[in-house]
Amino acid sequence: MAYKVYFQTLGCKVNAYESAAIGKLLGEEGFEEVFNPEDADIYIVNTCAVTAEADRKSRQMIRKARRICPDAVVVAMGCHTEMSGDESDADITVGTSDRSSLVPLLLEKLQMRASEREFPDASEQYFEYGSVLLREETRAVIKIEDGCNNFCTYCIIPYSRGRVRSRTRDAILQEITDLTKKGYSEFVITGIHLCSFEKEQGKDETALGELLTSVAAIPEVKRIRLGSLEPYSMTEKLISMLRENTKICPHFHLSLQSGSDSVLKRMNRKYDTALYRDVVKNLREAFPTASITTDMICGFPGETEEEHKDSSAFAEEIGFTHIHVFPFSPRKGTKAWDMKPQVDADTKNRRTAELRKISDEMEEARAKEFIGKTVEVLVEKTEEDGTWEGYCREYIRVRGKSEKPASAGEIFLARIDGTDGTAVLGTQIS
Ligand code: SF4
Repeated sequence: MAYKVYFQTLGCKVNAYESAAIGKLLGEEGFEEVFNPEDADIYIVNTCAVTAEADRKSRQMIRKARRICPDAVVVAMGCHTEMSGDESDADITVGTSDRSSLVPLLLEKLQMRASEREFPDASEQYFEYGSVLLREETRAVIKIEDGCNNFCTYCIIPYSRGRVRSRTRDAILQEITDLTKKGYSEFVITGIHLCSFEKEQGKDETALGELLTSVAAIPEVKRIRLGSLEPYSMTEKLISMLRENTKICPHFHLSLQSGSDSVLKRMNRKYDTALYRDVVKNLREAFPTASITTDMICGFPGETEEEHKDSSAFAEEIGFTHIHVFPFSPRKGTKAWDMKPQVDADTKNRRTAELRKISDEMEEARAKEFIGKTVEVLVEKTEEDGTWEGYCREYIRVRGKSEKPASAGEIFLARIDGTDGTAVLGTQIS
């Protein structure tokens, strides 16, 4: 009888990808994935440490796993476990650098059912999972790199995931080719620090451009999206390589974090607002319809009211399609943990709400810009009454209704007739 595995995954796309990857490895060993936690012989919690709240939730989920499945082997993996080192409620704890050991550890644990904890050495190599299927509606997510060398003062990732390790181009292209055979045509290229692809081999950001050119050469690939990008890596050379690549979607998630130069300096970000402004200008020249989205933190240590206002004004000046706004959350082990003064919770929450309101207004204004335009839609969901929903290349949600029923995965042109908040309403024209 096959052992049954249940996954509880917290956090980012990379975590979701890694859960899918571990699921694939276990599947090859004859394990069966189940979707009801109570059926599990093995209960895997893939944790996150991006905020204090994520840490708390990770601990809670591990305890919950033990409570729901007292006889199961509970595995805690991911960023939170990398930092905490041990999880007393878990039978096996692996961080982010020793995932390759999970399958043998698990097999051993299942045989022995011993209480002994084991912590293998960290790997310096990218751990290759082979071809993994992580589907996001009609998109497939492809991880090309792990780790980061940047040490932003608020971020735990370089400690939890280690330095940059890139996946081989052959493995990436093989995975994408495999997924096109399963019908996927849109690929999201992701990593912890995407622009550092092959940096450990002495390459610059054009290595990413070259990889994307090879991805685009696969005929069945119709659209390529990029994960979060660092502004200083978006050089004119890389932007020009992206412009030549007609399969790149004009949607760029360009990490900002703060629109105040003094805050950016304290964050140890490697750019200022002037550089960011130039990159946005270059991107918009190369991709006139581009959607620019970003992440911003409110209430970083020492952030004054003036710095917050500067940050908000800069966000408005750029005109983002959407901002993911987070209140600053101190992470133990980072420099920002000890920075003084910390901003009080009420002020952080108020600033976060103010910036989110700005983001909502910009998002609605951006949707209105599409009225009267024609966009290319990749259909994700359909209803029996002919209603469809999908995203255009600029990553704006488009909804519409057609006389001839559309099907998920279909790509067609739609004319935008109006908006419904942040989505646009379209009519299929081809
Ligand atoms: S670039 Fe900065 S924020 Fe991003 S993963 Fe690296 S250290 Fe963290």
